[in-house]
Amino acid sequence: MHKLLIATNNKGKVKELQDLLKETGIELVTPAGINIDLEVEEDGKTYKENAAKKAIAFARASKLISLADDSGLEVDALNGAPGLYSARYHPKPGANDADRRAYLIENLMDKPRPWTAHFHATIAIAIPEQDVHIVEGNCFGEIIPQERGTGGFGYDPIFLFPELNRTMAELEMEEKNRISHRAKAVMNAIPILKKIHLG
Ligand code: IMP
Repeated sequence: MHKLLIATNNKGKVKELQDLLKETGIELVTPAGINIDLEVEEDGKTYKENAAKKAIAFARASKLISLADDSGLEVDALNGAPGLYSARYHPKPGANDADRRAYLIENLMDKPRPWTAHFHATIAIAIPEQDVHIVEGNCFGEIIPQERGTGGFGYDPIFLFPELNRTMAELEMEEKNRISHRAKAVMNAIPILKKIHLG
């Protein structure tokens, strides 16, 4: 059986993807685990372009089948921003996730609530020297002005599921991994992975 490289340097994503993929029984490796130090510039115009670019770059460098995620938060009142730029959504260089959450709230303050939003994930699976497979997932909720919870990463503390009255950061990882955008994309990826690895 082949190994699968989780092609991301984002620790939050690595943890979630390891948990989401464990049921497949596929041997998972990380860039740090195989001494690959690679930063891929995310200059694509779509999630798909960025995810494919990352997966292909890691597959080339490692010669392993590689799975990359490109994701973002889309807020309706901001016409889909920060979207593709979620990881860099702040005017100051060197800003962190907490700065970006505060900046998002600042930009929403004069908009009527609820601030409906969704997370999107596109996953690309690249086979070295061969093709790239693309799958997607979305997850819907709303942005709230006060942070709640300490789990997850990124925008999780301000992303509320109104029907649960809990933010993404108030969910255990196992719960997040049943309903998140990444979970849905992985669900769509698993049949492809099984075909590649076991077919
Ligand atoms: P990228 O895929 O590396 O461009 O980064 C995606 C960015 O979207 C992350 O840095 C987060 O800011 C945000 N994001 C993606 N998925 C999640 C999530 O599950 N929770 C919170 N924020 C997320």
